[in-house]
Amino acid sequence: MVRNSYICEKFTNYMLRTVVSAQEAQKIKQLLLESRNVVITTHTGPDGDAIGSSLAMYEYLKRKGKQVTVIVPNYFPDYLHWMNDADKILQYDRRRAMSKSFIQQADLIIALDYNAPYRIDELQLPLSYCKCKRLMIDHHEDPEHYCTVELSRPEMSSTCELLYRLFVAMGEEKQINIHCAEDLYAGMCTDTGRFTYNSNDPEIYEIIAGLMRKGIDKDMIIRNLYNQYSEGRYRLLGHILLNKMEINSELHAAIFSVGREELKQFKYIKGDAEGFVNIPLEIKGIKLSISLREDTEKDRIFVSIRSFDDFPANELAERFFNGGGHFHAAGGTVYCSMDEALETARKALEAYREQLIEVKSEK
Ligand code: 5GP
Ligand code: MN
Repeated sequence: MVRNSYICEKFTNYMLRTVVSAQEAQKIKQLLLESRNVVITTHTGPDGDAIGSSLAMYEYLKRKGKQVTVIVPNYFPDYLHWMNDADKILQYDRRRAMSKSFIQQADLIIALDYNAPYRIDELQLPLSYCKCKRLMIDHHEDPEHYCTVELSRPEMSSTCELLYRLFVAMGEEKQINIHCAEDLYAGMCTDTGRFTYNSNDPEIYEIIAGLMRKGIDKDMIIRNLYNQYSEGRYRLLGHILLNKMEINSELHAAIFSVGREELKQFKYIKGDAEGFVNIPLEIKGIKLSISLREDTEKDRIFVSIRSFDDFPANELAERFFNGGGHFHAAGGTVYCSMDEALETARKALEAYREQLIEVKSEK
């Protein structure tokens, strides 16, 4: 279905700089085309880039006549269910037997948007029995070398951006159909906070132009991604901003925590707290934001960290929260009480006092 009227076959797209070399693209194309049964996997707690890149690859491989299945470790949020064939994604924690049987038959496993096996939690186990080839396509730093072929580009804003460049480098830009284009756009959009961070590369917008010529309605995609939340989400956000957010103006930082009981009180459903960690950064002067959210099931606390300018969120995540991630967007998980997690967060601010106290740029 054509969703905008700018669909245009005859425009030649802008020539993108080489990010994926011709040799790499050839090697990957060969690997994809010689396989018959493909399983696509992505990280636990899949986000827009994880689901977007998985379904974009799925669309491409379907067109190539492959038997292809997307398997995700666990639940993915409702605001990603509009994507074509999202209902065909297998959730490993719910469909173990069926997932295992697809994995056993696979001759190629593709790992999208994660840099290390531990990022897929329990899905690691069935994959570890599989002797087939593996292909990783990802944009996280410090990849562990667990695949036969690796395409790792931490300088890319999203795995979806990298995937688009790969399709172009393989000479397969024409194979990107409207659904594939929608998926790629969604991943690029969500991993850059609607193009508000990590998005100064002009070629991102050349790629978007290319995707729009496929007929995507980007306005509708943005509505699908961002205007589908529950009432509880906004009540919870109100509570956090009013009652829970600690601002350390001297250190230009904000911390907030939200416990299991509070989540229940606001009828929390998974995905409701998505993006909350970015909000304190909208306050003048704040350049670091830390969110601590208790899991509703297991005794653990999810940590999300966002930063601006020269502050390394991933380093802080590694040092204090057993985590990691990107320079400006990182996270981790801790197994302790909320009070202890809060203490750790406050300690982390103090440890970075020198760096936090100076303000580099006016926002
Ligand atoms: P979020 O705050 O959205 O959960 O995570 C932001 C980013 O931090 C993710 O894209 C991911 O790269 C990274 N991240 C989150 N949790 C972990 C973790 O436990 N380990 C590592 N290495 N990275 C994480
Ligand atoms: Mn990503």
